[in-house]
Amino acid sequence: MGQVSKQARIEAIGESGFLDRLLPNLPLHRGVLVGPGDDCAVIQSGRKKLLITTDALVEGAHFRTGWLSPRQLGRKAYLVNLSDIAAMGGTPRFCVLSAGVPHGFPVRDLMRIHRGLADAARESGAAVVGGNLTHCERLFLSVTLIGGVPGQPVTRSGGRPGDFIYVTGLLGDAALGVKLLQRDPKARGGAVRRFAEPQPRLRVGQLLSKGLASAMIDVSDGLLRDLHHLCAASRVGARLEIDRVPCSAAVRRADPMLALTGGEDYELLWTISPRRSSHMERLRQKFDCTFTRIGQLMPRSYGIRIYDGRRRVRVDRDGFDHLRGEQMR
Ligand SMILES: [Mg+2]
Repeated sequence: MGQVSKQARIEAIGESGFLDRLLPNLPLHRGVLVGPGDDCAVIQSGRKKLLITTDALVEGAHFRTGWLSPRQLGRKAYLVNLSDIAAMGGTPRFCVLSAGVPHGFPVRDLMRIHRGLADAARESGAAVVGGNLTHCERLFLSVTLIGGVPGQPVTRSGGRPGDFIYVTGLLGDAALGVKLLQRDPKARGGAVRRFAEPQPRLRVGQLLSKGLASAMIDVSDGLLRDLHHLCAASRVGARLEIDRVPCSAAVRRADPMLALTGGEDYELLWTISPRRSSHMERLRQKFDCTFTRIGQLMPRSYGIRIYDGRRRVRVDRDGFDHLRGEQMR
């Protein structure tokens, strides 16, 4: 492992900085088809390919007490993983849950969490096959989900210059929901529901994996960050047209920047060659949601440039945008 000073703290480098240090040194087995750094790992198991992904919900980091019902927590712990399976065009099969609960946690709520998880798994065709329960100062729910993939999984790395960039649904509502809950933990309504009850695009992912998408990722960290992830993996640049980015009237009113930087929408972002995109546009009625073209991949040297109409704007991926008032409204 590279040089890490004794004083280094995780805040200084973040998750991606940590992964940059860790990944080059991980031992990779021969059966690993796609290793760390994509939405799921892909491993060869006999003649089949398996997808593996894991994600956690942690009180204080992902939600505060009272924001979600126990049932919603259980469902969401599963669904955030399902979204990663969707992003590879896969089918969910088996999951396990590792939960940590504080002293005094009501058994009834724990049962409801498990019920929510089991229901969400069943609805998507997967089974809960095991778990672990431990004590922890704060509630955490960590799910590992294993899936199958019928053909070739769609990775983040297959995008080519010239490919069009598409996204499903509307962006920014989940982040707006978080803002509303921060103001009032009892807030309800469409945006809060988008945060509390994600709807991963499983069917769309499967459809796109049949020779349509060249690269795909789910939008969990925010559009700009996830577009950066996809472009880095594909070694390409991109031109993003923010006036095309689909968002609800509520997001447009509250803060349109949320559609670019807000996380947890669990929509799909993918790239597709122009020729295949006209075929895909003809299949529109087969999709169970809307989708929108929002830009085009470019050579790597182009970088990632953001346009509002014909005007180039600067927005960094964390959304700290000093000129926001002029650009986005
Ligand atoms: Mg993902």
